[in-house]
Amino acid sequence: MRSLLIDLDGVLYEDDKVIPGAAEVVAWLADAGIPFLFVTNTTSRPRHALVDKLKELGIPVEEDLILTPPIAASRWIVTHVPGPAALFVSAATKTDLAVPELDETAMEGAGSVVIGDLGEGWSYGRLNRAFRLLMAEPPPVLVALGMTRYWRASDGLRLDVAPFVKALEYASGRTAVVLGKPSLEFFLTAREMLGSGAAETVMVGDDIVSDVGGAQRAGMQGVLVQTGKFRRQDLDGDIRPDAVLGSIAELPGWWKSTAAASAERQS
Ligand SMILES: [Mg+2]
Repeated sequence: MRSLLIDLDGVLYEDDKVIPGAAEVVAWLADAGIPFLFVTNTTSRPRHALVDKLKELGIPVEEDLILTPPIAASRWIVTHVPGPAALFVSAATKTDLAVPELDETAMEGAGSVVIGDLGEGWSYGRLNRAFRLLMAEPPPVLVALGMTRYWRASDGLRLDVAPFVKALEYASGRTAVVLGKPSLEFFLTAREMLGSGAAETVMVGDDIVSDVGGAQRAGMQGVLVQTGKFRRQDLDGDIRPDAVLGSIAELPGWWKSTAAASAERQS
């Protein structure tokens, strides 16, 4: 156990309230020299806005300690896909996509077609342009910034990114590469950034499926915190967390006792 991936929403804060002890835990991580990265599926605000929010909550962190779907997608696309990317994403998301972009009117020539939460920005014309680009030769890679199905806005439920990705998959017969929790590519990107092996990496989150299940499928340990979206039923399902903590505040104690137990086993 050497490094940590930590979810933001529901782990460090709930809405605009910091979870008691979160700031102290982040300071402890830095003091103890434990490599860590914050991993979030948030695409509604750019990374610098997340840094501002954390700062307001008394948690100062550098931008490059936060991995979001657009940041992960940028790294993945630059490493795996030649050619420009056709972007179907919000302005906030575009800020963090460091990839060569295809001209907005081009109907072919994309190396990748990147789908984010475009909300009201979707129209038949736009969705159909994404479809036509996907059907061009050579076929580009379909990239999804997460697979969230819907979210709750102040006026009610709203379609998120997944229904549009599913429509394009269905029409084109292609399968999207997903850069968001719980996808394997997302966790692999996070581990690459940390430079740590799967067995020595622990993911801490409040989502039993996206955080704990995703991490375990990527060969890491998944630790569940009982804050944020945690519900008691989460402990009755098929996914078994490697540990369950009351909140992030219990992380240092758990980390130290687990490290001590493993040192004892080795001696
Ligand atoms: Mg969360």
